[in-house]
Amino acid sequence: MWAFKRLIMLIFKTVKELQYYLKTNNFLGIGFVPTMGALHQGHLSLIKASQQQNELTVCSIFVNPTQFNKQEDLINYPRNVAADIGLLESVLSTNPSQKMVLFLPTENEIYPKKSTKKYDFKLLSRVMEAKHRPGHFDGVAMVIERFFTIIHPNYAYFGEKDFQQLAVVCALTEQLKLSVHIVGCAIVREQNGLAMSSRNERLSIKEKEEASIIFRLLTYAKQRAKQLSILELKNYVASQLAATKRIELEYFELADGKTLEPVLDWNTTSYCVAFIAVTINNVRLIDNMTLFRV
Ligand code: AMP
Repeated sequence: MWAFKRLIMLIFKTVKELQYYLKTNNFLGIGFVPTMGALHQGHLSLIKASQQQNELTVCSIFVNPTQFNKQEDLINYPRNVAADIGLLESVLSTNPSQKMVLFLPTENEIYPKKSTKKYDFKLLSRVMEAKHRPGHFDGVAMVIERFFTIIHPNYAYFGEKDFQQLAVVCALTEQLKLSVHIVGCAIVREQNGLAMSSRNERLSIKEKEEASIIFRLLTYAKQRAKQLSILELKNYVASQLAATKRIELEYFELADGKTLEPVLDWNTTSYCVAFIAVTINNVRLIDNMTLFRV
C-alpha cells in the first residue's frame, strides 16, 4: 500500500489508493474536511467537529489552482505540509481511537483532464466574492464536486468564515442531488478578533494588529444595526478603513443570510449578515458577522 503509516494517521497521495482504503474498510461514517493547508485552529475546529460525528475523518490539503483568479495569489499562497501534519497529529493524539486520513493529491490526480466546467448558482454566482473574484466559485465547485465523487463522504465540514462558499457548496450539493450533509462551523478568531486564515501568515505582527479593525467594525455594525441607516453604516466603515491608510476596502455589504440578496432596508430581512473584504499589504482578507437573526 502506498500509504505511509505515521503514528496514527494514514497519508494518501493518489485517488486509487485512497479509494481502495475506503472501500476495503467499510467505515460507519466518513467526514470530509477539504483545506488548502497552512492549517490553523479554524481548520482544526472542522476536524474536531467531524471527529464527533464520524468514524473516519478525511482531511485534504490541496491548493486548488482553478479557484485562484490571480496567479500571484496562487504562487504566494502559504504552504507548509510538514507543520500541517504535525498539527493534525496533535489533534489525533488527544483522541487516538479516532481514524484519520490525510489526502495530499497532486494536481494531476484531481484534474486528470483539463476541465472548464461552468456552474450556475444564480445570485450566489454574482454577488460579493463572485463579483470580485471572477471564476472563483466555478473552481471551488469543480474541486468540491471532484472530492465528493472520490470520497463519497456522509458529512462535509466548511467554515462560516467563507460564508458564500458554504452557500455555494450547499447549492452544488442540491443541484447534483448528492446525499452528503454539509455542516457549517463557526468562525475561529485570534484573541484580537481577527478571523484565523492561512493568509494571515503573510502579515507582520503589526499588520495583524491593524487588521483587527475588521472585527471591531463588524462588531460595531452589529451594535448599530437598525439604529444607523445602511448608508450611514457603510460610510462609517469606509471612512474608518480609509483612515488607516494601509487597509483598502474591497467591499462591505449587508445581505440576507439565506439568499445573499443585498439588504437595502433593515426591515426587509429577518437574517442579516455583514460581509467584508479588504487588502492589507497585498494580502486579501474576508470576514463576516451575523448582525441579527430573528
Ligand atoms: P481553506 O484552507 O482556507 O480553503 O479553508 C478550509 C476550510 O476551513 C474552509 O471551509 C474554511 O471556511 C475553513 N476555515 C478557514 N478559516 C476558518 C476560521 N477562522 N474559522 C472556521 N473555519 C475556517
